Amino acid sequence: MTTDVRVAIVGGGIVGCSVLYALARRGWTDTVLLERLELTSGSTWHAAGNITHFGHYAEITRLYVDSLKLYQEAEQASGQSIGFHPTGSLRLATSQAELEAYKSLEPLYETLGVPYRVVDADEVGRLHPLVLTEGLFGAAHTPADGHVDASGATHALAKAARNLGAGIRRQSPVTGIRRVADGWELDTDNGALRARHVVLAASFWTRELALQLGLDLPLYAMEHHEVITDDVAELKALGREVPTIRDPAAPANTRQERYSLLCGVYETEPVLWATDGIPPEFGQELLVPNMDRLEEHLLRVMDRIPAFGSSGIRTVNNGPMCFPPDGCPLVGPVRSHEGLWLAAGFPVGIGTGGGSGTYLADWMIDGTPPYALPIIDPARYADPLPASDSFAAMKATYRKGYVMPVLPSA
Ligand SMILES: Cc1cc2nc3c(=O)[nH]c(=O)nc-3n(C[C@H](O)[C@H](O)[C@H](O)COP(=O)(O)OP(=O)(O)OC[C@H]3O[C@@H](n4cnc5c(N)ncnc54)[C@H](O)[C@@H]3O)c2cc1C
Repeated sequence: MTTDVRVAIVGGGIVGCSVLYALARRGWTDTVLLERLELTSGSTWHAAGNITHFGHYAEITRLYVDSLKLYQEAEQASGQSIGFHPTGSLRLATSQAELEAYKSLEPLYETLGVPYRVVDADEVGRLHPLVLTEGLFGAAHTPADGHVDASGATHALAKAARNLGAGIRRQSPVTGIRRVADGWELDTDNGALRARHVVLAASFWTRELALQLGLDLPLYAMEHHEVITDDVAELKALGREVPTIRDPAAPANTRQERYSLLCGVYETEPVLWATDGIPPEFGQELLVPNMDRLEEHLLRVMDRIPAFGSSGIRTVNNGPMCFPPDGCPLVGPVRSHEGLWLAAGFPVGIGTGGGSGTYLADWMIDGTPPYALPIIDPARYADPLPASDSFAAMKATYRKGYVMPVLPSA
């Protein structure tokens, strides 16, 4: 059986579902999303769901803003909760230079209409009483931040898209992809499918799909740990949810999860996963955690948030996530292959997936990007990188953690 659609999206994580819904709300519903297993079964199901408006690169702030908007719109349209907790975030400054850099971003946030202010150390202590403020110069406070239930948000997007007429096929791995006269043909277990446009939103699996088309994309997987503590007595006593802490000195992010603390760590010696190819049998799985690699970071987190060290550890998760050499996703057309689009390579796909879906859908429908954003344009990787260069760059970018590589006045 061959089906014809206007757009086929490969991958049912938060990014693929964002593209599907963003297309549908603008009237493109002759679409189908193909997911090899179940929705969210890649990196999305185990993500902490943090959404900040102050990410790694100032240039992509609008993607963060538009992500939360899209998830909230999908929640309204579908009735499926995204579980948003508006806790706000504090990005700590342990030097005057860091604080000045944060201040330099104030005009950007004013333009975007996003609440943002730089606060002193005393205010940090008031907002988050578990933080030891000694040695702090202050923090950037983004009160509109928070965290969502990443699976809930993905299902809200999927349901809202379906309600508008978009199609979703689960348990439908795409096994082949080739150019045909008027578009693309995809092989799936349920037969072939023709589409005028194809969007590859398959995270680190995108590399293997694109290789079939002669494209050598630097999309590999990196291991990423998160640690969840037992209940913390101080949080129970506080009776309110504390803001997320992003500490460039650790580097790590730490947020409240019920009465526990959940900490995502950026390791000094990051480890790549499955660089020779993703094992075909890899399902909805985690990798083996390695506490030794985390120790130096967790000690720094305990120095800043002593309560983190006084409770036991409940869970340690190690999940693979796609991490391009410069840490930015690839969103846009492949110029050499008409009708082929990328939405892959997201290290912070919950934070930026919705906005990227909106951005890509507007580009596909209008024929031009809604605004210039070369930092995510796939054209920057039109020439293949030697794998060893990709690996070195991935590690260098990852280990920087929250030290912003791009600050307007840095
Ligand atoms: C421990 C951990 C914590 C994280 N916490 C956060 C966080 O707090 N905030 C944040 O923004 N990000 C976080 N991330 C990153 C986040 O999980 C990813 O950026 C995001 O889930 C990527 O979404 P995606 O849709 O691109 O990929 P995925 O969720 O991996 O989806 C890709 C989908 O493609 C499907 N697929 C693959 N090949 C095929 C094929 N051939 N045919 C059909 N389907 C196919 C897969 O089955 C999968 O479902 C975290 C990651 C980890 C590991």
